[in-house]
Amino acid sequence: MNSNLLQTPIDYLKGVGPSRAELLRKELGVRTYQDLINLFPNRYIDKTNYYKINQLQRNSSDVQIIGKIVHLKMVDQKRGKRLVAKFIDETGELELVWFRGHKWIREHLKINTPYVIFGKVNYYNSYSMPHPEMELLEEHQKNIRIAMQAIYPSTEKLSARGITNRVVHKMLQQLFLETGGKFYETLSDNILSELKLLPKDKAVFNIHFPESQELLARAQYRLKFEELFYTQLQLITKNLLHKQQIKGFPFTEVGDFFNIFYQKHLPFDLTNAQKRVVKEIRSDLGSHAQMNRLLQGDVGSGKTIVALLTMLLALDNGFQACLMAPTAILANQHYIGIQELVKDLDISVKLLMGSTKTKARRILHEELESGELQILIGTHAVLEDKVKFKNLGLAIIDEQHRFGVAQRAKLWKKNVLPPHILVMTATPIPRTLAMSLYGDLDISVIDELPPGRKAIKTVHRYDSNRLKVFQFLREEIAKGRQVYIVYPLIQESEAMDYKDLMDGYESISRSFPMPEYQISIVHGQMKPADKDYEMERFVKAETQIMVATTVIEVGVNIPNASTMIIESAERFGLSQLHQLRGRVGRGAKQSFCILMTSHKLSNDSKTRLETMVRTNDGFEIAEVDLKLRGPGDLMGTQQSGVLNLKIADIIKDNDILKIARHYAIQILKADPGLQDKKHKTLANTYSQLIKHKNIWNYIS
Ligand code: ADP
Ligand code: MG
Repeated sequence: MNSNLLQTPIDYLKGVGPSRAELLRKELGVRTYQDLINLFPNRYIDKTNYYKINQLQRNSSDVQIIGKIVHLKMVDQKRGKRLVAKFIDETGELELVWFRGHKWIREHLKINTPYVIFGKVNYYNSYSMPHPEMELLEEHQKNIRIAMQAIYPSTEKLSARGITNRVVHKMLQQLFLETGGKFYETLSDNILSELKLLPKDKAVFNIHFPESQELLARAQYRLKFEELFYTQLQLITKNLLHKQQIKGFPFTEVGDFFNIFYQKHLPFDLTNAQKRVVKEIRSDLGSHAQMNRLLQGDVGSGKTIVALLTMLLALDNGFQACLMAPTAILANQHYIGIQELVKDLDISVKLLMGSTKTKARRILHEELESGELQILIGTHAVLEDKVKFKNLGLAIIDEQHRFGVAQRAKLWKKNVLPPHILVMTATPIPRTLAMSLYGDLDISVIDELPPGRKAIKTVHRYDSNRLKVFQFLREEIAKGRQVYIVYPLIQESEAMDYKDLMDGYESISRSFPMPEYQISIVHGQMKPADKDYEMERFVKAETQIMVATTVIEVGVNIPNASTMIIESAERFGLSQLHQLRGRVGRGAKQSFCILMTSHKLSNDSKTRLETMVRTNDGFEIAEVDLKLRGPGDLMGTQQSGVLNLKIADIIKDNDILKIARHYAIQILKADPGLQDKKHKTLANTYSQLIKHKNIWNYIS
């Protein structure tokens, strides 16, 4: 079938009028024949298996029974009427129930005629099946070639408007009829034979009308492979193009800044992971392409020192560098930390934030343009157009998910060639997922914590144990440690019965009275200056307790803090809990994380809490998080569009992803433009894909 036919609007399919077409568009995003073909079933039901009524269990779903209706009646009930049928087979009886559509059903249902019914069974006193799907046995037998019944995604609106699973099924049958079921092959002969994949038309047919379990499995495999293969092909092509086309400043020198710092001022030995990452970065910087690298490392893994070493390389080559953080607190902390690290070197470092005073700002701008200022640290303020560099060679972005794509693009314009970009994130993303999400970024991972860290002990406590928890806090404080107490939100709607920060603050103030105890409080609605003041007091250990909302989530580094209490922990997502926990365990002392909750917990909440108690490994936590939430919810990934996969699942189909990626790399290595004759099919499909869905505009 040619691809134009596949682009036919769905309205033209027999049986689909304008109003159904509109519904299909709105509810399922099905606009064309192609979209309908790509409406893949959620699941399948074994149609070769028939239940007898006496085999039914409570809550059996998807059961199929052969029998007949012997009696039909209307029953009055408080709200409206229901239509009830007595359905029997040779082993027993069952009630079929309809709450709407009575007229049509009464006119069309045949009494004493064999039917195959299909649906979910309820049990109150006796078995019943609400709104069964029904098919005359005679017709059913005509379709018996289909072993498995496909179940399509649906919505309430669709079923209310009569577009049931059976109707979708009929539409697909019609589509196959109109098109003859012939689809151009989209994979090359090589791939098909090496991987023993089903041909395209056979796969498409079997995904909708499986002829056997085995053919269904092979159809799924083939279509998932195809989808992942083309996604990888696009990502890798984009990465290659980027490297060819986007020239970068070559940093060929390793000079005094780097060497002297490395030999004399490094405060600790780098971990092997840090060394490896610095090497990877150096090899990027030495090439003539622009670096676009994502640095992943769990909280506390030591990304800052890597950032500094990279900046020193920029300086060694006569360039300026900048480091951006998402909040003023973090920018400030980086500024203090980095100044401390380079204090014995002759390097000028300054801080730029929204709150920087006009006069200081003017001087800073001048020094930046003259090149006197070498390292600029700041918040979003750095991106403003009036911030001009003499020669920016490197931009580092910390905690990447807080920055949008558009902001990253702004950095590019700050020099004649785009500066090298290093994006640092503590949100651990499983590597294969990262490959798919950021296929056009190169990835480095720090997968090792600095030595001597004690694993944080995490426990889950109920609110009713609060007194004991407070006692524990007093003991920690008596040892000279500091503690965080974090609340989900400030002034959440009153209907929700969780504590807000202010209540908590008051009760903590009562349990930890002045002057023995000093308490800091930081939340999003405070003026930045007040926040800084409170933060400062905690940093200087003038206060022992920090009561805060999640503003302290990222990056804050106070090694003397030993305990993190998270209130209403059930309200936080897993990655957020892990980020928060990462605020402690930064010193050599034993640290603790206490997750406080009420007794009311959903299953997902329980899983999250158990996971936190079980492990400190950010990557393991990320895997669980992905399983709970699905990749679409991962921070910062929504916009990527990459996860808009129709049949493959990036987590579950990981093995297929690896094979697909392997093939994509091999093919592009040998033939980057897909110009070889044997790649003609691939090239055609690829250009069709690009034409019809433009999903790769998302990054840099
Ligand atoms: P993050 O990756 O979360 O940004 P940081 O860079 O803030 O982590 O490092 C966390 C702490 O670990 C800092 O106090 C830092 O000085 C320390 N650190 C980093 N690397 C090492 C190392 N190789 N050996 C010992 N301590 C280190
Ligand atoms: Mg950090």
